[in-house]
Amino acid sequence: MADVDIVISGGGAIGTAMALVCERLQYRWLLLDQPAKQHSIGRLGFDLRTLALSPQSITWLDELHERKKFPRQRVDRMHIWEQLGTSTIDFCREEVGSDSLAWIAEHSRVLKALQKNCEAHVRNIKTAGITKIADAQQSLTLTNGETVSCKLLIIAEGANSPTRELARTRWVAQSLGQRALVTVIETERTHNSTAWQRFGSGIVAFLPLTSPRTHAVVWSVSNPMFEELESLDDDEFKERIALASDRICGAVLEVDQRLSFPLNHGLAHTFLPQSWIFILGDAAHTIHPLAGQGMNLGIEDVRGLESVLRASASTKFISPTQLHTLAQRRRAKAIIMQQLMSLFDSTWRWKNPLSHWLRNFGVRTFSRAPVLKRQIIREAMGFGPMTKVN
Ligand SMILES: Cc1cc2nc3c(=O)[nH]c(=O)nc-3n(C[C@H](O)[C@H](O)[C@H](O)COP(=O)(O)OP(=O)(O)OC[C@H]3O[C@@H](n4cnc5c(N)ncnc54)[C@H](O)[C@@H]3O)c2cc1C
Repeated sequence: MADVDIVISGGGAIGTAMALVCERLQYRWLLLDQPAKQHSIGRLGFDLRTLALSPQSITWLDELHERKKFPRQRVDRMHIWEQLGTSTIDFCREEVGSDSLAWIAEHSRVLKALQKNCEAHVRNIKTAGITKIADAQQSLTLTNGETVSCKLLIIAEGANSPTRELARTRWVAQSLGQRALVTVIETERTHNSTAWQRFGSGIVAFLPLTSPRTHAVVWSVSNPMFEELESLDDDEFKERIALASDRICGAVLEVDQRLSFPLNHGLAHTFLPQSWIFILGDAAHTIHPLAGQGMNLGIEDVRGLESVLRASASTKFISPTQLHTLAQRRRAKAIIMQQLMSLFDSTWRWKNPLSHWLRNFGVRTFSRAPVLKRQIIREAMGFGPMTKVN
């Protein structure tokens, strides 16, 4: 039976980052992955799936990536508005005294950079899953028949994690009745390092990519509207997306292949089902992508675990009490984020005139409250008290 300090199951960005943390802190670790098919780079040269990462997440990832960094585009400004609305919300980096509001990176390039950093430790990586968890012995049976014992099992298998079920953890999923349609477009005008987001027929976001007229699109729409958009050919789709963005960057000249994801809010009943099993990343929580916070939340989970592991790095005794406190704190944060996303999403769907007036009034008041605005954006950037990980 192999014996290691930490087993990480799931080699997505969160699991791989966790493995690099274990390596940095000199734990004996094993990363298990059953890789799913990766999304390909589209014909415009970008991954169709992109991530808005907070400055805090980027700084932390860069520290972890001693050898290989991934390309990214800086966001200097954000402009948020509503179809038929009279008010807008604008943020700019100067307002918060930062050199960026966020960074846009391609999902597969972030993952590849993390994996590249793991390459030197290939002996610690196995293509296998877990078929059985023996609690008393703290041991795991793998799909290849091997048995491994460990002091800590970290589950980072994404939203459909089978090991979370083996650990008998209830997963409460609430379908949002929406899908996120993602693609990459080229527009007539340059993005000017601005992220644009319009609330109207769904929530459409244009995120700036490293080429000046190219944007990643995340368009969250109701299921019926998704079906209608799916049936459009590329020229019709270009026109629809130009309309949905009020032609903020002019005409849409090119559109890449479209991918889509069902939107759910999912939450594990506990993030610490046993004193030696911790669940993080999308295996612990999934949220609406409207504020681009899912991966950032997962990175905060890893940073929280990093600080617990650092405290016990010399003895390799991983304190169950500290794990318990962390699990509770991370779950509370995930609940707050889910509730905030639901609030934004539902508020922007109010249709009657009074609600519409109220919303515009609220947005105008918010825009004129610089202290509140600054605090909210600092929180989204990963610098507020809610983002504290230890
Ligand atoms: C449309 C959309 C837009 C988004 N935009 C943003 C954004 O702008 N900013 C942001 O911060 N977040 C965003 N997110 C969220 C972000 O993509 C996720 O939070 C993040 O990718 C989760 O990473 P993960 O490693 O936890 O899970 P995953 O990426 O799902 O990785 C799980 C890994 O575990 C492996 N695995 C699965 N089962 C097993 C098993 N049994 N054994 C071993 N391995 C297994 C899988 O193959 C995979 O490699 C978005 C999500 C969506 C859907």
